[in-house]
Amino acid sequence: MINVKINQLIKYGLDKNLLSSDDKFYAVNRILKLLNLTCYEELKEVEDASFSLIMNCIINYAIENNILLSPTINNKDAFEAQIIDCLLPRPSELNRLFNQKYKIGPKTATNFFHDLSIATNYIKTERNNQNLRYKYKGKYTPLDITINLSKPEKDPLDIIVQSNDNTKYPQCALCMENIGLYQTDSLAPRSNHRVVSITLNHEKDLWGMQYSPYAYFDEHLIVLRKEHSPMYVNSTTFKELIDFINKFPHYLIGSNAGLPIVGGSILNHHHFQGGKYDFPIEKAAVLKYFKKKKMIIDVLDWPMAAIRISGPNEDHILDLATQVFAYWQEYNNESINIYAKTTKDHNTVTPIVKLDGGNYNFYMIFRNNFANSDFPYGMYHPNPSRFNVKKENIGLIEAMGMAILPGRLLEELKLIKQVIENKEDIKKYPELEKHQDWILSIKDKEVTDWDKFLKDEIGRIFEEVLEDCNVFKYGSSQDFINFVNKAIY
Ligand SMILES: [Zn+2]
Repeated sequence: MINVKINQLIKYGLDKNLLSSDDKFYAVNRILKLLNLTCYEELKEVEDASFSLIMNCIINYAIENNILLSPTINNKDAFEAQIIDCLLPRPSELNRLFNQKYKIGPKTATNFFHDLSIATNYIKTERNNQNLRYKYKGKYTPLDITINLSKPEKDPLDIIVQSNDNTKYPQCALCMENIGLYQTDSLAPRSNHRVVSITLNHEKDLWGMQYSPYAYFDEHLIVLRKEHSPMYVNSTTFKELIDFINKFPHYLIGSNAGLPIVGGSILNHHHFQGGKYDFPIEKAAVLKYFKKKKMIIDVLDWPMAAIRISGPNEDHILDLATQVFAYWQEYNNESINIYAKTTKDHNTVTPIVKLDGGNYNFYMIFRNNFANSDFPYGMYHPNPSRFNVKKENIGLIEAMGMAILPGRLLEELKLIKQVIENKEDIKKYPELEKHQDWILSIKDKEVTDWDKFLKDEIGRIFEEVLEDCNVFKYGSSQDFINFVNKAIY
């Protein structure tokens, strides 16, 4: 039986172009070693089977034969990745193939790499499909709400104290040392992990590109500096983003802010996120627009303070973005609680770039990470009264209008519905304690469809979370328009 499965896996690898026929027995022999087998019979006829079916059988074999001693999800994932690695080209060969395809076109190259990342189950399509996704129509353009089952929820205060332990190997989840690494802890398994080399901003092959195993949206990718060095957002970042778009014009790319509280979950390794997706912010209404040097600067009707600079000339866009950023870095307005600096810099931006036909669209979302004893998590962070839904930092994906909410919410929503419909005591369920105020505020409403009502409530709370992060929330939209007017001239 296991012999049939290995035959099927090899056929799958050949069919999906993961390995060539020259590599067939090399791959078989490596798989035999992992399964403690000593012989293999090549079958003349091999029936097709789905990847998950083949892999489940192989993993069950490993468990039954005491090869996989502790069959936790992490251990099974790591073992699966190791088996798949036997089918995969070495990183240098993958780079050669990627570059060969790039000569035909950037889309051909990324399609090849994306298909490979799906075929190897590095992007966990089946698991990601279990995530809940829906639209929420609120005060702005409809927001994308996703409840993500595969990503662990992180506490923002843990990110602030992210260690810089030089002895740790690899130093972080984005380091190149992860390629081919066998690991079974909470990070994604890496044996089948591949990163292709790219050149950005005249730095030849000093950058890498990979797809995200969590795939929050279509072709969700990560671009990383190969060297483990801290995030930065400045005019160099803007150049790097624009250069990426010139090389991969079918993708969007953005950077998280480089400061704690308003940045992403990894601050100690410079990286961007991108992919093929139209985010809600792109459809935002325009509150006011300005014109300058064949560019249009739109002030967006958006829960966070955001502008879009559009135009055909990348140098003009870069100059203006740099000018606006420099103005913002020094911008103080104590009457509406904007403090650019205390002992540290607080003002930064979340920049995002996308091509729209012949125009560059450069989005700047203004951020500030000021915190004090009244706001230990930050003045422009989700309000603690909404931590039951979202406690984590608001990174660029969410700032563009896609909520990435913790997987625990799925079960909790079912329980909340049950408690309200059956008029049960909330105290019976300790996991609902954090939702208590919210449940009390909605439980007596006249509602016919609680599933829909609760989903809308989650959307409404996410919209408020974004408004919490609006750096002009203590002022008016006119204050923001006045700021933009001064910043661009
Ligand atoms: Zn790193």
